[in-house]
Amino acid sequence: MIVKNKQFINGKWVDSTSNETIDIINPDTEEIFGTIVNGTKEDVDKAVESAKAAYLDFRNTPVKERQDLLTRIIEEYKKRKQDVIEIIEGELGSPDGEAHYMKGLNHFTEARNQLDDFAFKDRRGDALIVKESIGVVGLVTPWNFPTNQTAVKLAAAFATGSPVILKPSVETPLAGVILAEVFEAAGIPKGVFNLVNGRGSVIGNALSSHPDVRMMSFTGSGNAGSKIMENASKDFKRVSLELGGKSPYIILDDVDVDKAAQSATQFVYDNTGQVCDAATRTLIPESIKDDFIAKAKQIMENLVIGSPSNNNVDIGPLVSQQQYETVQTYIDKGIQEGATLVTGGTGKPNGFDKGYYVKPTIFSDVSNDMTIAQEEIFGPVMSIITYKDLEEAIEIANDTVFGLCGYVMGEDRDKLQQVSLAIEAGSVVINNNGGTFDLPFGGYKQSGLGREWGDYGLEEFLEVKALKGFYA
Ligand code: NAP
Ligand code: MG
Repeated sequence: MIVKNKQFINGKWVDSTSNETIDIINPDTEEIFGTIVNGTKEDVDKAVESAKAAYLDFRNTPVKERQDLLTRIIEEYKKRKQDVIEIIEGELGSPDGEAHYMKGLNHFTEARNQLDDFAFKDRRGDALIVKESIGVVGLVTPWNFPTNQTAVKLAAAFATGSPVILKPSVETPLAGVILAEVFEAAGIPKGVFNLVNGRGSVIGNALSSHPDVRMMSFTGSGNAGSKIMENASKDFKRVSLELGGKSPYIILDDVDVDKAAQSATQFVYDNTGQVCDAATRTLIPESIKDDFIAKAKQIMENLVIGSPSNNNVDIGPLVSQQQYETVQTYIDKGIQEGATLVTGGTGKPNGFDKGYYVKPTIFSDVSNDMTIAQEEIFGPVMSIITYKDLEEAIEIANDTVFGLCGYVMGEDRDKLQQVSLAIEAGSVVINNNGGTFDLPFGGYKQSGLGREWGDYGLEEFLEVKALKGFYA
């Protein structure tokens, strides 16, 4: 069992003012995998005080020093690769620990590389525009990508000279503890990074109400995001929100159906469906319906479900009992609302009595007003919707409160471009192109506010100051 009952505040591992701990459950075995401390508002106050004390020095460090810090972080992070993988398997239940490890590494590397030529200064005539850190930032992160969602924020904060307090999800907090150990080993200046574990209702609330926190960067559900925004509105903190999605995958009629079925299913079952930009609404033309459904069904039925530590497993368990129940409720709702169950359904897959395992599920004959087409399920559940023509496909794609991502696959470049431009979302993936870590990521509509990743991510943490007559 991994016991990590300390907070990291002002450069030291310290006790919380609380003696309570929170158990972290391994979703495969349902046994206790580790514990963290159930932190308090007093812990937050101490962490914010230390971040505030570090602010001016850190803001004013030469860019090269911050770049060197990121380089040392990258070196230390690489040393912990095996630990990261084991923790991702143990606390999240993902069989793909290496991919999670790589996401963290890529964000730190991207931020370091951005500092090669990021323009913190811009001269206009005899005026100078400077971009400088906004101040102390509170980071609140979800459980589904415990290295990615944390690293993307931390890398941008360190690159811009912004001291932070991180509160990871109670479901998967140990990845955050490893990052704290990495930063400590990399010699991060005291106060620049603080880790306060505990519940969102306490720690997240204390951070977003704290007068010395100038920005909240949050990834998670709309409910918690809106509470953070409400608190932040009292003293006009900047808020950056990465929220949920119900992303459409428009399959064009000239597509290679094998490739389309492979890609569309993968974007549903990846990370056991616990992905904010999962392509959970699959929009297909009538002409390929039977062929596509048969192929998608075959792929989903051949997925290897199993313990995350086994080799060659495609999907592991969901993160928690609660998540298991939520997904069951949605599958049941799909059946009640009259969608056709192609494969999967409620209950655990054969042979799985223990662990939060669900059946990879496909619904067809879904209409876009059904609950399973409108609400985020966060499990491996595909909703297939057929469309008559491209105009209708685009209309259905945009008929959602979300706008995180869109996907399109086909042969005709004009149509691909037309669809990608018409989708109302922060990203569109064309023919499976994964893109690079310098592309902005974030949502339209209820999928969020602001952009992370690369130079756009750095901008979020910066204030802009115009110095008039600076060179006069
Ligand atoms: P969540 O319940 O909103 O939790 C996210 C974080 O917010 C956790 O650390 C949570 O604390 C904290 N929190 C809860 N209540 C809070 C409050 N009142 N004030 C401040 N913080 C609070 O979301 P989740 O279930 O962990 O994650 C799944 C959601 O995240 C999905 O909706 C998914 O789409 C979204 N997501 C979005 C992106 C993106 O980039 N757009 C990426 C990944 C996930 P606890 O530890 O106590 O739960
Ligand atoms: Mg767990």
